[in-house]
Amino acid sequence: MSHKEDSEGKSSHPTGLYASIPRTCLPIVYHPDYNITFMGLEKLHPFDSGKWGKVIRFLKEEQFLTDGNIVEALEATEEDLLVVHTKSYLNRLKWSVVVATITEIPPLMCLPNFLVQRRVLRPLRTQTGGTIMAGKLAVDRGWAINVGGGFHHCSSDKGGGFCAYADITLAIKFLFERVEGISRATIIDLDAHQGNGHERDFMDDSRVFIMDVYNRNIYPRDGFAKRAIKRKVELDWGTEDSEYLRKVELHFEGTLNEVQPDIIIYNAGTDILDGDPLGGLSISPQGIVKRDEIVFRAARRRGIPILMLTSGGYQKKTARIIADCILNLHQQGLIGAEALEGEGSSLQVTSMLSHSRHAGSTFNAV
Ligand SMILES: [Zn+2]
Repeated sequence: MSHKEDSEGKSSHPTGLYASIPRTCLPIVYHPDYNITFMGLEKLHPFDSGKWGKVIRFLKEEQFLTDGNIVEALEATEEDLLVVHTKSYLNRLKWSVVVATITEIPPLMCLPNFLVQRRVLRPLRTQTGGTIMAGKLAVDRGWAINVGGGFHHCSSDKGGGFCAYADITLAIKFLFERVEGISRATIIDLDAHQGNGHERDFMDDSRVFIMDVYNRNIYPRDGFAKRAIKRKVELDWGTEDSEYLRKVELHFEGTLNEVQPDIIIYNAGTDILDGDPLGGLSISPQGIVKRDEIVFRAARRRGIPILMLTSGGYQKKTARIIADCILNLHQQGLIGAEALEGEGSSLQVTSMLSHSRHAGSTFNAV
């Protein structure tokens, strides 16, 4: 079967991000380059900018992960980024002052751009590559987690709120262009902030259904972008577990009853945590663990591939909570089983049973 872009007369650039991954790896994507460290500058942001590495460390300590069973992320190249971003936007990132504004780390404007590129933008590009890779893995395996990414304030021509690359838009566009049988996506954005980046990118795209649950009183309050949300759940200051979990479950079930997507992108921000300096909500650690379980259970029960991104939430205790979320998904039997079966034909059968409409998918791993 020919690839979609062939039938539409488009050509897609060669990318390393869709290279095949051994079945012995769990579909969990990460690279040590995700973490941002530079002479203490990262401490000027209200951020644990090493949270991604800490999540992996906890998962290794619990013996869920080893060095050998994680998928190592690759940095997205300029050609990869141009699938969504404009050339002029990428050129603007060559000015340190622009990056300082987007990442909200003012001292960056005083650094030569090569350092900004190496210490800040490369980590973000590697996380972006990880999201794109995890998108394909999710379709292959039924689920995938990028322990990073979720830059939901960035759109094709504008960054903001620490988000320099539109990894959610990129992951979806890569799937639409390169994977046969993937033509409808649902984004469930449960970060405390409104996901105005992907909303602007998919404003008039009927293939993408967006559900967004956020604190209505905080950044970005993007009224134009809100028009792209098909299921909008606005929360007030200090919303607690019982109301939050009830609304997430009700509206996610409603969303999946309304449209049957080929892929779910779950933006699992943890800045809903009680005490978060930016989120303004009051969800407990146990509430966050339960939230991820609700989302995965709904997706897995319907056999819809799900891609989870860790997105916002940078308190010191955040990394432990994300690790606990992933461990709970495993304990609940919602992730992990495929890889644990090892290589061989039983995998194919499991895959075909759970995602029969994707069994004939062909991938363009060029
Ligand atoms: Zn956020």
